[in-house]
Amino acid sequence: MPGEGFDSALKAAADFKAEGVGALFTLLGENVTDLTDANRVVEHYEEVLAESGEVHAEVSVKPTQLGLDIDQEAAYANLRRLARAAANARSFLWIDMEGSAYTERTVDLYKVVHAEHANTGIALQAYLHRTVGDVIGLIPARPAIRLVKGAYAEPGTIAFSAKREIDENYLALCTLMLPEVKRRNVRLVMATHDTDLIARAWRFGQALGLDRAHFEIAMLYGIRVDQQLRLAKEGFAVRDLISWGDAWYAWYLRRLAERPANVWFVARQLLP
Ligand SMILES: Cc1cc2nc3c(=O)[nH]c(=O)nc-3n(C[C@H](O)[C@H](O)[C@H](O)COP(=O)(O)OP(=O)(O)OC[C@H]3O[C@@H](n4cnc5c(N)ncnc54)[C@H](O)[C@@H]3O)c2cc1C
Repeated sequence: MPGEGFDSALKAAADFKAEGVGALFTLLGENVTDLTDANRVVEHYEEVLAESGEVHAEVSVKPTQLGLDIDQEAAYANLRRLARAAANARSFLWIDMEGSAYTERTVDLYKVVHAEHANTGIALQAYLHRTVGDVIGLIPARPAIRLVKGAYAEPGTIAFSAKREIDENYLALCTLMLPEVKRRNVRLVMATHDTDLIARAWRFGQALGLDRAHFEIAMLYGIRVDQQLRLAKEGFAVRDLISWGDAWYAWYLRRLAERPANVWFVARQLLP
């Protein structure tokens, strides 16, 4: 992350915009235990959306940051409020996918909000066995899907754990959705740093007659930036997910878990 304040995220987004890379904003934090905090998050995002016009950023929120653990109806109401704010700002609202305890409720939440607000999308995780069913169920409603591999520790009964299997499922899901990007205007964002997977999916997209501007890719701030710039230069629609906030601990641990080499990277920065 570029810094703990939103101003640093905005500045980073402006720098990326100059390089042809769009921004996806997210305030770090999850599992709020008080609806007052959830309301504060909504108000903060409303300000973010109002200030993001210049950089054409989209925003991404976690349902548990909007109160899903406390009161499902309140979380729905908060999400609706944000979808309206995003529409007013001519922006787009994404719903992050958290651990599997929330998947069903998050997909249900998305169905309701998307029926009212077309400018909304959901993240789905390729490591979950159920995701193919979720994609098939959502396609008739012309969803926007941000496909990720998945960042939480899930049991083998519901999730693939071998990288090869996750990658195969990721590609199979892209193969399912890419024709719908062309046919039904479904929006698919490949949110991965795996440039081999991106290249393989693009070969299929190309065969379908998709143009690069409709082939969307998203990566995290600071990871494979060279690839983000290369893909943008080649004409693909690339977004960089930029986060800020002081609740970075859980998020940071997930990043370490998916790439233990980062422990050494961080240790090196701390050592004199
Ligand atoms: C825009 C975006 C949004 C996301 N939203 C969600 C979400 O809502 N829910 C969710 O569960 N997960 C989300 N994720 C995280 C995702 O599930 C993966 O955990 C994460 O992207 C790592 O997997 P990968 O697809 O990059 O593939 P990997 O196979 O893990 O990585 C491919 C290559 O990318 C590089 N790389 C990957 N991660 C790192 C890292 N941390 N540090 C340095 N290099 C790295 C390495 O070179 C690696 O070989 C999101 C990811 C992105 C990019």
